[in-house]
Amino acid sequence: MRTDDAAAPRPQTLLITLTGKDRPGVTSTVFSTLAGFGVEVLDIEQIVLRRRLVLGVLVSLPRDVKALRAAMDRVAAELDMHVEVDRGTGDNRDRPQGRSHVTVLGMPLRPAAVAAIAGRIADTGANIDRIERMARYPVTAIDLHVSGADPDRLRVLLSEEAARQAVDVAVQPANLLRHGMRLIVMDVDSTLVQGEVIEMLAEHAGCLEEVAKVTEAAMRGELDFEQSLRERVSLLAGLDASVLDRVYAGIQLAPGARTMVRTLKRLGYRFAIVSGGFSQVTDQIAADLGIDFASANELEVVDGKLTGRIVGPVVDRAGKATALRRFAERAGVSTAATIAIGDGANDLDMLAAAGLGIAFNAKPVVQQAADTAVNVPYLDSIIYLLGISREEVEAADAEMGIVTPAPPLA
Ligand SMILES: [Mg+2]
Repeated sequence: MRTDDAAAPRPQTLLITLTGKDRPGVTSTVFSTLAGFGVEVLDIEQIVLRRRLVLGVLVSLPRDVKALRAAMDRVAAELDMHVEVDRGTGDNRDRPQGRSHVTVLGMPLRPAAVAAIAGRIADTGANIDRIERMARYPVTAIDLHVSGADPDRLRVLLSEEAARQAVDVAVQPANLLRHGMRLIVMDVDSTLVQGEVIEMLAEHAGCLEEVAKVTEAAMRGELDFEQSLRERVSLLAGLDASVLDRVYAGIQLAPGARTMVRTLKRLGYRFAIVSGGFSQVTDQIAADLGIDFASANELEVVDGKLTGRIVGPVVDRAGKATALRRFAERAGVSTAATIAIGDGANDLDMLAAAGLGIAFNAKPVVQQAADTAVNVPYLDSIIYLLGISREEVEAADAEMGIVTPAPPLA
C-alpha cells in the first residue's frame, strides 16, 4: 500500500532512449554528458542483442531541457546512434501485485510458442515487464518478469499452453524465496540417471521383460509401489552381488547432471538423492557427485548373492516425502527452501512436500500434479529456472579451469 499523497503532483521526468550499434564507451559518454545538467538518475536499463544496444535512462527534469536535448543529439551523432528524448511525468508505472517469473524452455524456441505464451499472459490482464535470455544452449531459455496475475492461476493457464506448444513453462512467484533455495532432492532412476537400475539388474538375471513391464506400470502409479518392488526384487534372487558394481559402472547420468550439481554447490546448495532403487548403487552415485544425503532400499546379500529380499522398510512414495523432510531438517532449511525433482508416481508426495516440485521428463500423472514440468532432457535446465544464466555457469567453470560440458543436442 502506497502511503504518499495520491494528490501530490508527479514530478516531471525525462526519458532518454539511445539505440544503435554497441561500441565501447557508449554508457560512459552518455552519462558524462548528463553530468553537466544537474539531473538525478532515476532508472537505467540497458540491453545488447547481437551487438545492437538499447539504453534507456530516466532522469529528473533538467532546468534546460532544450540544451540537454541538443547535447544528446550531438552525442548520438558522434556515436552514430539514434536518440529519443521524451518528456513526461513520474517514474515507471508501479508494477501491479502478483509478480511471477515465467521461464520458457524451448528446443528450439519458435515465435509461435512465444506468441501463444505471451497471449495467455495478456488474457489474464497481466503485463510482461521484462524479458531476459537465460541460456541459448543446449536449450533456449527465456525469463519473463510478469506482474498483475496470480501465479497459481497463471501456472494452470500456461501449463496447458506449454503442452500445446511443446515447450516447457515454469511459473514461480517472484519473491525472495527463489533466491533462497538451499536443498535439492532428486529421484535417481530416470531422473538423475538414464534408465532404471532394476531393469539393468534384471537384464543380468534374464528377467528384463517381466521386470520392465511391472516397473512401467508402477511408475504410472497403477500398482502399489512396495508390493511391486518386492515382486520385482524377488526375481533377482540368486544374482551374484558383483553384478551391482558392473551395473554401477555402466550407468549414464542424465545430461547436465554434473553441471547442475557443480554449479549449485558453488552457491552453497546441498543435495540429496531419495530413491526407490538400491543403496548399493545410489550410495556410489552420491559419493561420485558429492551428494550430501541419500536414502534408498538395500538389497539383501547373503554369501555374495542377492536373496531377492530388501533389508528393512521399503522407501516408497510416502517414504520419499519423509526423507525429504528429514534431510531438510538435517540441512537446517525449511521445506519451502527445497526443490524436489522426479519422474515417477512414487515421487508425487516428495514433489508436493517441496517448495518447488519439478516433474522431469515425467509420467503424465506426475506432470499434472507438479508445480512445474521440464521435458527437455537436460538436468542443468533447472539452473535456469532459478534465475542463473548459462553465461554465469560457463564463467564460473572457466574460473576453475573447466570447460562447461556441452551435451549433444537430442
Ligand atoms: Mg524415477
